[in-house]
Amino acid sequence: MTNVFIISAPSGSGKSTLVEKLRKQVPNLEFSISYTTRKPRGAEQNGREYFFVSREQFQQMIRRNEFLEYARVFEVDYYGTASRFLRKAEQYGNDLLLDIDVQGAKQIREKIPDAVSIFILPPNRSELEKRLRERGQNREDDIQRRLDDARREIENYEKYDYILVNDRLDESVEGLKAIVLSERLRRSGQEDRCLSARAEMYRLKKIRERVQPILQSFREVAAGGGK
Ligand code: ADP
Ligand code: 5GP
Repeated sequence: MTNVFIISAPSGSGKSTLVEKLRKQVPNLEFSISYTTRKPRGAEQNGREYFFVSREQFQQMIRRNEFLEYARVFEVDYYGTASRFLRKAEQYGNDLLLDIDVQGAKQIREKIPDAVSIFILPPNRSELEKRLRERGQNREDDIQRRLDDARREIENYEKYDYILVNDRLDESVEGLKAIVLSERLRRSGQEDRCLSARAEMYRLKKIRERVQPILQSFREVAAGGGK
């Protein structure tokens, strides 16, 4: 059986960094490469980070019903998961990892109710801003738009099964690994108590208090009219 893992996070939280490390450490986990109408950034390559397509090509894929989900992200570009990635994972008996936004996560939950969803949060707003700047891939207006979008996106954290605050990178990788491996074991009728206990630390009820100051750091700036 193929387990589907959804990972969402505000841009700059460290999701790609975490996913890359997870993929190196966890076998039989396929990554769905999304289609997007946005232009490649930095060293991004077609078919590696994304399939970069034109608006026309994307719309043709919609008409042909080739997407498991798709959404317009940042009110500019389209991003979508092709259904063939799920078929391929099922064929090879692998699990599937989707790096998608909150709109896409909602669509997947409707189609695949037992998909496991994980939301990654930055430690606070100023750390997110710092990471976006230090990544050096976005223009100033783009950074401001992503910060603004982050504020809206993080309000959806309660819809996710697990919430991981990406503070120390090595700790976050171990946490993410524990979530994926414990869910995989549990669903195959086995359990590793140590892994399960680690994964449970990221359940909503356990993390709620930790999340409040993070949300507050975003709300304060919004209330102050932004920077
Ligand atoms: P995303 O995929 O969520 O947009 P990235 O993985 O590109 O984010 O990370 C944004 C920046 O933050 C990168 O420069 C990355 O090296 C850095 N980063 C990621 N995780 C951490 C962390 N835990 N602590 C400090 N910097 C981090
Ligand atoms: P970026 O432009 O920074 O690579 O990604 C922007 C946002 O688009 C991220 O939140 C990312 O998770 C989301 N995204 C990437 N691929 C998909 C996809 O296939 N579907 C949806 N709904 N969102 C996606």
